[in-house]
Amino acid sequence: MKALKQRKVKKLLLVVLDQFRYDYASYLKKCRNYISSIKLCDANSIPTMTESMHTNISTGKYPGKHEIISDSYYDERKKPSLIPFPSMYQNLISLIDSGEINFLSRLAYEKGYLVWCVGGKPKTAQLLTQLEACNVRVLRDVATNKAGVQSIHRRFKKPLEKVIDKQNLREYRAKKLDDPRLDLWVANLAQVVINNVLKDASPWLGIIAFPALDYIGHTYGPASRECITAIKQLDKILFNIFSNPDLNDAFIIITGDHGCRTIKTAIIMDEEKDPKKFIVYKRYADMFVVEDEIPIGSLIRKALSHIILDGGMIRFWLQEMNSIARLVEWLDSAKGLGKYLAKICSSLEKSDLQIIEHSRHRNFGEIFALAEEDVAFFRREWFRASRWKITQGEPLVAGEEMPLGEHGSIWEEDRYVPLILSQKIPERKSYENIDIFNICMKLIA
Ligand SMILES: [Zn+2]
Repeated sequence: MKALKQRKVKKLLLVVLDQFRYDYASYLKKCRNYISSIKLCDANSIPTMTESMHTNISTGKYPGKHEIISDSYYDERKKPSLIPFPSMYQNLISLIDSGEINFLSRLAYEKGYLVWCVGGKPKTAQLLTQLEACNVRVLRDVATNKAGVQSIHRRFKKPLEKVIDKQNLREYRAKKLDDPRLDLWVANLAQVVINNVLKDASPWLGIIAFPALDYIGHTYGPASRECITAIKQLDKILFNIFSNPDLNDAFIIITGDHGCRTIKTAIIMDEEKDPKKFIVYKRYADMFVVEDEIPIGSLIRKALSHIILDGGMIRFWLQEMNSIARLVEWLDSAKGLGKYLAKICSSLEKSDLQIIEHSRHRNFGEIFALAEEDVAFFRREWFRASRWKITQGEPLVAGEEMPLGEHGSIWEEDRYVPLILSQKIPERKSYENIDIFNICMKLIA
């Protein structure tokens, strides 16, 4: 304890691998020289989605407090409106500005650390750094696939853009995102920042968010050859970054936001605004075929004002509070979603309740249910935003038209990620992703 308190870390690098499941750490073989310990890290909150879990890491708080529940939420004060990510992010920034929530990169910045970040998904870079308190942020623009350099200091922006152009790194050229080359591109951008921004800079906090594993795990499944190949490539990528002389003596933390489960049953709502049924796809070998259609009867529809599907759970907002019993009965029954659900809120165990309590917020939903381990709820808009296509009624090719991996649930495969440290810290009994904030704060205190 004493040793850690006395020594302030001058270079702190936080690497967040999207969808880095707890068992993936064993594939980091080349990086071993930079690893002093690997710990199991629990999200201990739901939904185990990218947005909420990145924010757990950067704020040291659960979703119930930082209010980033998923990629969007339903605000019960503004019925019936779905709040999209930009407004959600604005809300987080006002919580940070008002001092209600701490933010790792901002605190580091205020302590005089040079803060830099490279992210392959703009959302993750945003959730890990605040633009006003970040010296350099490089992120991929979703619409153009180009790297955008953001900086509040002019002396960084232009020269960096020049080097990126010169090295032909401006654009991510591969057509697909579920391709390990996306991480290689992010790594090259990170090397440009390290080589051009960090010269003699001290102290600094660097954050790199790698996205490819998430895309690959969704498409091909978390145990697929494609996924394992991508992790092995990440091992090399990380090794090259860590070997950069500018990272000598850096304290390195590698972690993930959530894991991933293999999906055998996919449930999608026919439409989001005025849903009338759930369509159940079941996997047979390489195909997903429609197995079941579950109508949302008029009584249930009348009782509900909104439904959000989140990978491993389904959340409901009620029109009439007195219709809870009817909805729960429907969820419980085989005619409703019953056979695909592990638990609904009325049948939760004590340990589950604690996890849910961490995420409880007025925008979490009024009733929720947890999917069986191999069942996933897919939001229809995810399909619109990706290359997956739903052709209603037609069989879908697994991995091409229907994703094979999903997260968001309370199950261990989604909840646990590795927490990898390059140097020793005082041992604790257990670790949660909110502890990463505290570990970093102690290192730079
Ligand atoms: Zn993620």
